[in-house]
Parts: sequence; structure tokens; C-alpha cells
Amino acid sequence: MDMTFEEIKALLAAEGAQMELLLKRALEVKLREMDNYVHLRGLIEFGNVCEKNCLYCGLRRGNSKVGRYCLTDDDVLSCARLAHELGYGSVALQSGERSDADFIDRIERLVKEIKKIDGGSLGITLSLGEQTEDTYRRWFDAGAHRYLLRIESSDETLYYKIHPRDSKHSFRQRIACLESLIRTGYQTGTGVMVGLPFQTIDHLAGDLLFFKQMNVAMVGLGPYIPHPDTPLYRFKDLVPEAKKRMDLTLKMIAVLRLMMPRINMVAATANQTIDPQGREKAILAGANVIMPNLTPGEYRENYFIYPDKACVKDTPDQCQTCLDIRLAAIGHKIQYNAWGDSPAFTEMAGITGAHARP
Ligand code: SF4
Repeated sequence: MDMTFEEIKALLAAEGAQMELLLKRALEVKLREMDNYVHLRGLIEFGNVCEKNCLYCGLRRGNSKVGRYCLTDDDVLSCARLAHELGYGSVALQSGERSDADFIDRIERLVKEIKKIDGGSLGITLSLGEQTEDTYRRWFDAGAHRYLLRIESSDETLYYKIHPRDSKHSFRQRIACLESLIRTGYQTGTGVMVGLPFQTIDHLAGDLLFFKQMNVAMVGLGPYIPHPDTPLYRFKDLVPEAKKRMDLTLKMIAVLRLMMPRINMVAATANQTIDPQGREKAILAGANVIMPNLTPGEYRENYFIYPDKACVKDTPDQCQTCLDIRLAAIGHKIQYNAWGDSPAFTEMAGITGAHARP
């Protein structure tokens, strides 16, 4: 559905019964277009070394308090095999941003190895930041088919309030990378944080129009959670209280579901961090993807982009049982052993001849 900037702003301002009506409409649209399935991406946070210094992120290069780690190839492949055994259907490889030749070669090798598991039955999402188009192509040709690169804010002025203004953190470059990913043929995802200091309803409405204009296949929306070891923390008093951030995130998900009915949308772990029912609420507002954490327990506490992350101590088995029960309680079910691609992307790929996979 097409919406004007003003119509989006009015929906994002909805409160009480109006907000409930918005969430109900979004759920109806999702069930009509996507059924009640939730797709899983087993998340492997395989390293937290990062070249960048994003002002909100606990992994930023300038944070000397975080213990740095990097999983071995064997560890990463064990996590991928576990995802396959648990029937997740897909994995997501995520790390701090690096662009050195060793890193690029290693990812290409790992993607190829993961594709060997059970004849290529696992789908692969990468979330490895800004790279050259040649690198994106190499990883795509190796077998990755989805890529998540969050813009964090589509407003250039706000972008530079949460990133240093230097050549390593260029807003224009980030947009160019999203365009490269789409050109390469990835199911491309992006997203923003909701409730940032200095962020207004106008910014958020602009973000939703940006997703639509870029015609992305996936979106991840989660509340901003201030991290005490980051420069942005000093503006924490400008951050809306947790309930308001949660409600705003739910409204963003719901409005986007109305605007882009067949894209994949992640119920981010950050939702559950600020509200024990946050992940379920996101699913009921229109999200349809969950990313259970497969990173070995001893490393998880060093992958805190934001503090107090939910489910950090759960084992994959506990996580799966918990998810099955929680989702059944809200009338949803996990679609096991499927890639769970975005129908919006596969339909578009049929039209354009882009590289869709089964
Ligand atoms: S948001 Fe990503 S690129 Fe920025 S500092 Fe954190 S891990 Fe690095």
C-alpha cells in the first residue's frame, strides 16, 4: 500500500485504541499474505573485532572495555551444523566490520563450507558491514544469498549524530553499499534503531519511505538501548522511556507491514531486552523472522552492541523449546527446514531475472 509522509506520521502518532487498531490491521495483512509462519535464522556472532567507531555501539573500536574474540572456522561450522540439526533452515553470520584480505577470503571459504552441509540445505544471510561490490559478489557467488546492512537512520543529519563524521562512516557510502547489494542479487535487508536521541517522528516516517523506495526484501527494526561505554550514552536523557520506545517500534513494524505486505521483518532481540514479551509483540505487529543465537555461550557476553541483551544464557535447545511454546501461545508456528525467503523478493526476482534460490 502506498502512503504519504503525512499518513505515515499520523499512524506513528496513534495511541490507545487507534494503536491497537493499527496493530490488528497489520496482523491481518501479515496472516493473509504470509500465513502464521515464523522463519528462523541461527545467528552466529563469530567475532567482535571492528574497524569502525559507531557512536552507539559497544563493539566500536574505541571501546577498550570489551574482550575481543574470534571463533575458529571449526567453531563456526559446528554452529552451522547445529542450525541444520535443529531444523533452522538458515544461518546468519555476523561480526564487527573488517575489510582486510584475510577476512574477505575467510568469509568466502566459510560460506562455501556451510553450503556443503547436507547438499546446500542451509540458507545463508551475511551481516558484515560495508564492503566493495567485488567482495559482495565473491560472497554471493560462494553461496550467500541474503545480506543485512542497517542504515540506522536514513536522515543524513541524524546519521552523523550517531556516527563520526569521517571517511570510514560515510552516509553516502552506506547507501552506495545497499545499492551494490541489490545489484549483486542479494535479498537485501536494512533497518533502523527506534528511539534514538534527536530522532523525531519525521525521521521515522522518512525511514519507512526509504525502505519502500529502496524496495528492500527484509527489514530489522528494534528499539535503541543506550550502552554506557559509548559516546552516545551522554544523551541518554533524550531517549524516550522503554514503553514508549517499544510502542514506537511496534507501530513502525505495523505501518511497514501495511506498506510492504510481503517482505521479511525481523522481531529483533532488542525488543525482548526492553520488554519480556517484546518479541511476541513484534510478531503480532507484523514481524515474521526470529534470529535465535547459536554463538557459543562463553563468547556471547562480548557481543553486546547494547547492554543486558535477552536470552544470552539460553542454550540452543532451551531457546528452541522456549520459542515453540511462546509462538504457539500467540497462534504462530516455526517453519522448520525452510529458507523462508521473502516472497516480495522471489516475486521480483521472477520479474527481473535476478538470482532467486529455492
Ligand atoms: S555497529 Fe557494526 S560497524 Fe558500527 S561499531 Fe558496531 S559492530 Fe562496528
